[in-house]
Formats: sequence, C-alpha cells, structure tokens
Amino acid sequence: MAIVMEEHELRQLVQSCRFAARNGKIPDYIPALKKADPGLFGCVVCNGEKTITAGEVEEPFTLQSVSKIISLALALMDKGEEAVFQKVGMEPSGDPFYTLQALEEGRPSRPMNPMINAGALAVTSLLAGNSTEEKLGRLLAFVHELTENTSINICEETAQSELEHADLNLALCHYMKSHGVVHGNMEELLEVYIKQCALRVTCRDLAKIGSVIGRNGNDPATGRSIIPPRIARIVKTFMVTCGMYNASGEFAIKAGIPTKSGISGALVSALPDGTGIGIVSPPLDEKGNSAGGVKLLETLAERRKLSIF
Ligand code: GLN
Repeated sequence: MAIVMEEHELRQLVQSCRFAARNGKIPDYIPALKKADPGLFGCVVCNGEKTITAGEVEEPFTLQSVSKIISLALALMDKGEEAVFQKVGMEPSGDPFYTLQALEEGRPSRPMNPMINAGALAVTSLLAGNSTEEKLGRLLAFVHELTENTSINICEETAQSELEHADLNLALCHYMKSHGVVHGNMEELLEVYIKQCALRVTCRDLAKIGSVIGRNGNDPATGRSIIPPRIARIVKTFMVTCGMYNASGEFAIKAGIPTKSGISGALVSALPDGTGIGIVSPPLDEKGNSAGGVKLLETLAERRKLSIF
C-alpha cells in the first residue's frame, strides 16, 4: 500500500514547518516540561508496511494528553460503554482542557467528554486494578502492546514535577468526588493520571498507536485485534470532536484528520487507511496544541487530500 508521501517530501515539509513552531510557546505550568527543546521537531508516518521519518525522531518526550485516548480505550475494554458514559459525556466542550466551569454548570455534574482533564480523570478512575501500581502496570502493558515497544516507561522526573503543581487537577478530582462521579482516594487517582501522562515515548511509538487506531484496533504487523473495532471507532470519533481541545472544530475543517494532542507538543493521528502519524514539536499555540505540528498536519492534509470529510 502506498504511503502518503516520499520520505524526502516529508523532510522538506518538516523543514518548512519549523518556522511555525517559532510562533508557539513552551508551557510553563509543569516545571519539567519547561526544559523541552523548542527546536525539537520530529515526524514519523507508518502504514504497517512502510515507515518514513523526518527530523529528530529518536528524542523521547511524554504523552501528556495523548494518554487520554489510551486510558479511554482501556477503560472501555475494562468496564464497557455503559459504565464509562455514565461518568463522562460525549460532547465537545468548547472550553480549555483544564476548566472547572463546565463541571459546575452541568446537570448532573459530570465532565463533558473524556478528552478534557476532568473527563480523563473520571475515565482513569474506572481502570481495573486494586492498587495504583496495578492500574499503572496494566496501562503500561497496554501501551507496550500497542507500540510493540516494551522499553516504554514512566518519566518519574516529569511525574514528580507535575505532582507538585497539580492543585487544579486535584480540585477537579475533589469536585467530582463531591458530586459522586469518582470515589475513593483522590491523591491516588491523581497519581495514576499524572503518571499515565508521563509515559515516555518517541514519534515512532505515536505513529504505531495511530496506525492501530486507524486500523480499527488491529495490529498492522500481525493483524491481531488489540482494541475491539467499536471501541477504536469511539476513540477516533473523540479524536475528531474533542482531540484538539477547543480548537477541534477549526482543525477538523482545516485538516480533517482524527488527531489527539498533548502539552508536550505531541500529536498522534489515525488515518482511515491505517496510516499513523506521530509528531513532536514542543512550542504550543494559544489553545495548547503544537504550533508546528498543527501546521504540518494542515499542510499534509491539504496537499494529499487526507481529510476524512
Ligand atoms: N498532564 C497535563 C495536565 O493534566 C496534560 C494536559 C495536556 O496535555 N493538555 O494538565
């Protein structure tokens, strides 16, 4: 199967998008993330048969909000749709990912969707496992299976740094606990969530994850089902409607590629033909998405007619 473009074209594209990254800003609310190299730019495209790369693709970074699609898939596999959507809605919020406001306004008070922080915290609370370690162990095993990379681990430095500055996420947990959305120990829930965000990957791993999701949950190498097709479809749909936070509508019009972003500057995209795209470029635009990465996907989608719409 032909891949979206030749490697030399991808390299030119990455080169031409580096300028867009200069308009972005490294986020400063998690001290460990401030150390990110603003010049880092990597992109991997893989379709199971072929992999092409451009830029600094061996550099590791943390998943951050990209982990929200992984925990969602696992929670749906663990507990089923009914249990998950009792706790979290299916609608885009149009608000920034960290907001408390929508929780206060909602009746009943439950997060609007699994891609904002409140929703992701509620989803993480549903993961099967009797302890923090067991839940994280299961998440890690799932990521290893999705990427075929068993060397992926948690970046403890990033996790600790975020744990020390997690008042807002802890407030979201307590608010939801007081409304019966989540139960138990909120410090433990916060720890699992922050450590899932601190999973350290490369663009290769992201591209592989995108490829599995694009193939409705099937491993591109073996054809084996890792995520049931219906759950892969739910994940892809959230990537389109909420994957880029409150820029999801604009991104759907300009690129039209199911994509999830994270504040590390990570982006994972899943194309319907089973092509996965993994990008990292840390400076973010004002909505919290990788400025250079968004430019790259919009340009690629326009040139190769990749919009799913
Ligand atoms: N760990 C970050 C947080 O919870 C992830 C946010 C993001 O990537 N948008 O704030």
